[in-house]
Amino acid sequence: MSFESLGLSSPVLQAVSEKGYTTPTPIQEKAIPIVLMGRDVLGCAQTGTGKTASFVLPMIDILAQGRAKARMPRSLILEPTRELAAQVAENFDMYGKYNKLNMALLIGGVSFDDQERALERGVDVLIATPGRLLDHFERGKVLLNDVKVLVIDEADRMLDMGFIPDVERIVSLLPPLRQTLFFSATMPPEIKRLADRFLSNPREVTVSPPASAGTNIVQGLAIVAEEDKREALRRLIKEQDIKNAIVFCNRKRDVAILQGSLKKHGFNAGALHGDMSQPARMETLEKFKQGEIQILVASDVAARGLDIVDMSHVFNFDVPFSPEDYVHRIGRTGRAGKTGHSFTLASPDEGALVEAIEKLIGNAIPRVEVSGLETAAFEASDGRRRGRGRGRGRPTGSGGERSRSPRRAPREERKPSGELPVEQQAEAPVAREAQPKRPQRERRAERDQHREPPHREPAHRESLHREPRAERTGRGHERRPERRRERDEGAPMGLGDHVPAFLARPSR
Ligand code: AMP
Repeated sequence: MSFESLGLSSPVLQAVSEKGYTTPTPIQEKAIPIVLMGRDVLGCAQTGTGKTASFVLPMIDILAQGRAKARMPRSLILEPTRELAAQVAENFDMYGKYNKLNMALLIGGVSFDDQERALERGVDVLIATPGRLLDHFERGKVLLNDVKVLVIDEADRMLDMGFIPDVERIVSLLPPLRQTLFFSATMPPEIKRLADRFLSNPREVTVSPPASAGTNIVQGLAIVAEEDKREALRRLIKEQDIKNAIVFCNRKRDVAILQGSLKKHGFNAGALHGDMSQPARMETLEKFKQGEIQILVASDVAARGLDIVDMSHVFNFDVPFSPEDYVHRIGRTGRAGKTGHSFTLASPDEGALVEAIEKLIGNAIPRVEVSGLETAAFEASDGRRRGRGRGRGRPTGSGGERSRSPRRAPREERKPSGELPVEQQAEAPVAREAQPKRPQRERRAERDQHREPPHREPAHRESLHREPRAERTGRGHERRPERRRERDEGAPMGLGDHVPAFLARPSR
């Protein structure tokens, strides 16, 4: 099948061919003709499948006719993270180069002013994270009743990050007569129910996750003492033939510390996490994409969905709390048919997290040894519970990194890596049913780490009659200033806290 047979216009085909793509991916083959027909789509696909172009290309053609009015976008794409939103915007720039579509990107962490100016000019394509879009709406800067096409991307991620109430509110502000394209990597019942409410007689399109189709991620897992992790990482990096790599940490505060440590040891490392300003995040990402930074230490939210062509390695410095994040993390490598490598460093108390991942992917992750370091073993008891506390993600002082001997592994676990099949591991489809239900505490910890703060009331109203959302939960630990700062990372800049009341009034 060729792109020409999908019904796309010549300007779009020209842009696709200049990008060098000759054959549509399965999601593009299935979804593009349906979108061009004006039908709603329920797409079960994750990043890496070519999903973005499957809605961007036909949208360019749909929006080619017509003109946007000031503050009234003609289409809306909702993304869970700033980076994904920026990536979709890049796609519009790339594929829409022969069309004259106006686009605006509304994401947190950057000034409201430029975004408002773009809205004023009239936009054909509005790409937004839910919180920032609602902030603009409440300031009366955007009206949503002219939206003809809505895309909800990564719906399951929106759910995980607590954005669904914001998404529901946004959808309630849209005209009921519209075309809706709804994408999610998984379809748990909550997401299906949402899709049933938002979509009208949709066509369902399902494609397998990229890595389940026998692509090529060579996985390995090394069990080492917590205090050996940095040493283990350095040794693995030196042993591997690394073109470029992401090192994932579970907590953003560990990201900066690990990056500093790697730099101190002479590695070319950058950092990407939610406490950085948006311009700094974009700059780092660009340097990584250009090869100026070889190793990017990152938190999940910052690296979610990043499309770095040809990335050779992924390292998990911590075992992710959510098994799905493991699939997403390692999916950053082994893209577009290339062989990728992923190594996970697990401490003895991370056994339950590893177990949950292996249950989800349907395979044991091959155990590997780090040469020169002693292999430890998982603790027999409930590692999940203890994994939240002692030592997880705790930076180890460089002076005392080897101060405590790891527990020796039982003999059967101390096999040299060569005896284990460190080779292609197919990822199972990401079936949420297969996962153990995560304790709420754990989901909350993950959300605190990941989320750009959901929609915030303008500052003056918050202070007058309500507490910020997470503080209203009444959970004592939520009140720690450090957590508050983490949530505030997307707080409005520009007008900041001094929003005049008349601007903050809803425009309805
Ligand atoms: P996505 O799933 O949208 O994140 O896309 C994953 C990667 O596949 C991106 O690098 C795209 O540029 C690339 N891609 C998209 N469509 C095609 C295609 N038809 N052929 C080859 N690569 C593609």
